[in-house]
Amino acid sequence: MIPFNAPPIVGTEIEYMQSAMASGKLCGDGGFTRRCQQWMEQHFGSKKVLLTPSCTASLEMAAILIDIQPGDEVIMPSYTFVSTANAFVLRGATIVFVDVRPDTMNIDETLIEAAITEKTRAIVPVHYAGVACEMDAIMALAQQYKLFVIEDAAQGVMSTYKGKALGSIGHIGCFSFHETKNYTAGGEGGATLINDASLVERAEIIREKGTNRSQFFRGQVDKYTWRDIGSSYLMSDLQAAWLWAQLEAATKINHQRLSLWQHYYDALQPLADSGRITLPSVPADCQQNAHMFYIKLRDQQERQALIDWLKEAEILAVFHYIPLHSSPAGKRFGRFAGDDRFTTPESERLLRLPLFYNLSDNNQHTVINSLLSFFS
Ligand SMILES: *Cc1c(COP(=O)(O)O)cnc(C)c1O
Repeated sequence: MIPFNAPPIVGTEIEYMQSAMASGKLCGDGGFTRRCQQWMEQHFGSKKVLLTPSCTASLEMAAILIDIQPGDEVIMPSYTFVSTANAFVLRGATIVFVDVRPDTMNIDETLIEAAITEKTRAIVPVHYAGVACEMDAIMALAQQYKLFVIEDAAQGVMSTYKGKALGSIGHIGCFSFHETKNYTAGGEGGATLINDASLVERAEIIREKGTNRSQFFRGQVDKYTWRDIGSSYLMSDLQAAWLWAQLEAATKINHQRLSLWQHYYDALQPLADSGRITLPSVPADCQQNAHMFYIKLRDQQERQALIDWLKEAEILAVFHYIPLHSSPAGKRFGRFAGDDRFTTPESERLLRLPLFYNLSDNNQHTVINSLLSFFS
């Protein structure tokens, strides 16, 4: 069986985890956490990076940090993972869904302004497949209407927009280190990127159960006390050790993924030229990270036929995201602004192919050959 995904493993994870064990400190904010955070601050140009248990936790932290209140509205695409919306619904917000662009499946920046009301507090661009949203347009709108921008960069680690790292452009950025993402912290993990210096102090307090424990450990205060609402949003240092192994190999992992991506693209180009499938597109200003390789089929029926065909050849290909506005919770907690021109029809055509760091050339050839034979 060729799996759809396998967690990235570079080989040095065990050694670093053993070193974390030997350090006698496994809880959050240990040596490996500090190394990972500093590495990301330097590489991605963020004021403060905080490791968290997941991107879901990072999004929840962000919603608390920008003080989302019941009745506030938050704008995002409907074509995304549930956590993007849930984090804000947990604070009582109403989600306002905006259609996606068919070329990137990212929120259509030209439709955002019409969705803004006096209740709007934030825009949450989701960088689908690690390809950037049109951030200049989104940041300009945010400035004009005094809104926060929280980037859901779960899929965008190591991608850039006009040379800037995804996650470092909005006021806050959220990364995922889940095993299905490009880099993992031993299966689960995340990071919150605080790019607005005025938010850093409160972010640390929210992450430490609402206390100023981080300042205490830096010797900035004599004792720590309960200061604010908060939760436990720390990553274990044992997981940070695993993540450190992956960050050290970040460029190698990125190159390998990009090369697999390009291989799919070149091999399937003839099918796109003859109009049988649509290939993904990456705008000129965006350097992607090959988080995903997807194709678009004619319709849902053809997609199912291809999934069955691949399964017959012991290859797992999957689709995802039933648009949130058409799900039971999405109907309860949100509304669609404008028309659903592309979200539903494009999501029904999309199919993801196996793409992961340890995918062998041989197995990739098998996938490509099986695809080509389906169409011939
Ligand atoms: C994976 C993903 C998440 C959730 O990440 P976790 O680390 O599993 O919580 C959120 N948003 C998007 C767009 C994702 O792809």
